[in-house]
Amino acid sequence: MCGIVGYVGKKKAEPILINGLLRLEYRGYDSAGIATMEKDGIKTIKNKGRVAGLLDIPEISNLEGTMGIAHTRWATHGKPTDINSHPHMDNKKTTAVVHNGIIENYVELKKFLTDNGYEFLSQTDTEVIPNLINYYYEKESGKTENSFLSAMSKAVKDLKGSFAIEVLNQDFKDKMFVIRKDSPLVIGKGDSENYISSDIPAILSFTKDFYLLDDYEFAVLSKDNIDFYDLNLNKVSKSPKNITWDMSAAEKGNFDDFMLKEIYEQPKAIRETIGARVSKDSKIVLDELDFTKEYLESIDRIYIVACGTAMHAGLTVRKILEGFCKIPTEIDIASEFRYRDPLVTKNTLCIFISQSGETADTIAALKLARSKGAKTIAISNVIGSSITNEADYSLYTHAGPEIAVASTKAYTSQITLLAILGMYFAETLGVAKEEVDKLKEEILEIPGKIEDILKDTSKIKTFANRIYQEKNAFYIGRGIDSCVAMEGALKLKEISYIHSESYPAGELKHGSIALIENGVTVVGIMTDPDLTHKTISNLQEVITRGAKTFVVTNQDLENVTFDEVIRVGKVSPYLSPVLSVIPLQLLAYYISKEKGLDVDKPRNLAKSVTVE
Ligand code: GLU
Repeated sequence: MCGIVGYVGKKKAEPILINGLLRLEYRGYDSAGIATMEKDGIKTIKNKGRVAGLLDIPEISNLEGTMGIAHTRWATHGKPTDINSHPHMDNKKTTAVVHNGIIENYVELKKFLTDNGYEFLSQTDTEVIPNLINYYYEKESGKTENSFLSAMSKAVKDLKGSFAIEVLNQDFKDKMFVIRKDSPLVIGKGDSENYISSDIPAILSFTKDFYLLDDYEFAVLSKDNIDFYDLNLNKVSKSPKNITWDMSAAEKGNFDDFMLKEIYEQPKAIRETIGARVSKDSKIVLDELDFTKEYLESIDRIYIVACGTAMHAGLTVRKILEGFCKIPTEIDIASEFRYRDPLVTKNTLCIFISQSGETADTIAALKLARSKGAKTIAISNVIGSSITNEADYSLYTHAGPEIAVASTKAYTSQITLLAILGMYFAETLGVAKEEVDKLKEEILEIPGKIEDILKDTSKIKTFANRIYQEKNAFYIGRGIDSCVAMEGALKLKEISYIHSESYPAGELKHGSIALIENGVTVVGIMTDPDLTHKTISNLQEVITRGAKTFVVTNQDLENVTFDEVIRVGKVSPYLSPVLSVIPLQLLAYYISKEKGLDVDKPRNLAKSVTVE
């Protein structure tokens, strides 16, 4: 989590750094700070709170330097305070550091440094880094770039945990040093200027040429040059990747919030996900994979591993993988999978899903699966992200940058891609031909059906206005609809702070129905014709106990009355989540707006969860 930005070039660094931080603020927003190299040394300005707060600090207008580093924080160690904000400096005030990640052994390192005369001002784990670099640098024989890199390398070898680090040192007035491990950091190459950022969209308006660093790779940047080194300071050669993303995709345009824009971008995002992979009369094309029928028959099980919304997307493909392909499929939460000694063999296929591709728990789970010999597929939205570098195969959703913390288009494009993957497996195995042919037709119609839902959202808005002051909400559904219920409940709690829970509809009466009382809202999702009448009965049970009901369905409901019914297009239950989730995303959005909350940057959350 958190965002880091860096600039070295000919222009004044401060406005560029602030601009980058504002674009990265969705990644963490409890404190912000910058450090620039000025004629008389390194100057830092930092504060608790939003990036905009930095502009109210008068000293910011004195910064003239053309090189600097910047940070927007999502605190892990130490409260959000001015002192705990980054950049942090060593005791001698010679080295400034911004850091994304967690130093797991900081207590031990702090003790070592304290025993060696160092003092600490903050409660952060990060503050050990500049001091440790300084400790080793003072032991080096000279003050050369090589000796500084050697000190940095020794310091980094002592660190346990995850980090993307930018460093400035007083002795190098025109050089910036960076290194990463398990936390994101990209380098943008410009003309006589170079940039650093946690993600590509933040600096896409400055350059389209990017270098990606592997774990434990250093880069030393000046305005005209970038050198790369491994941890033992051997030079590494790298060539830049050209990114074709359209900058407008990372701007709000006419929408009030990124979330609403991204909800409305779903038809386009899904068209991109489908791309040339699906056409009516030919086989699914997934050139990224080379799986044979024999290989798929040899799979003992599939694990789909992810966190949060991506895990909810994973749940939706089980019906295809088990129903059509007859491959046992388990969906697991990455932070649990890692620690429960899962039954992974070399015949297991593990699929990891992460929008950013930088989710720390998912990366760690992927490493575990590989160490046990499994074949691995990464599903991500970000080209060159960490999970795609680690996995045997990578599939991209091509949904375009997703900025709002609460995921919308990434979720529906993940479901779409997983369904395509499931169809590819079925075709390769030569099973369920008729069903797969039907799904191909249906999937191509999905974007148009989303457009239909988005044409008129007034009923959803009105219902949001009716319930926005409530304290609790329940989401229920059966089969595939129970997966969507989980996502709907998550959306609501993420951005409206209303306590919401989801249950498979039949499960409610086994305990939680005790919570239903007059006026409580229950959201029901019904898209599976085989299960609709059962869910209707469960909704009747809550209506009897006083609940208000909001129903999303593609079925013709007769002789039943609910407080609100939102119709979505008819599609088979293998794909219905892509449609039925849209009203739930909008409901959460409008409730959050009614409450006057910051939809794109909900409290306590950050976009890409790069800590465990
Ligand atoms: N662990 C560091 C801190 O709490 C960095 C957090 C971040 O990635 O923002 O300051």
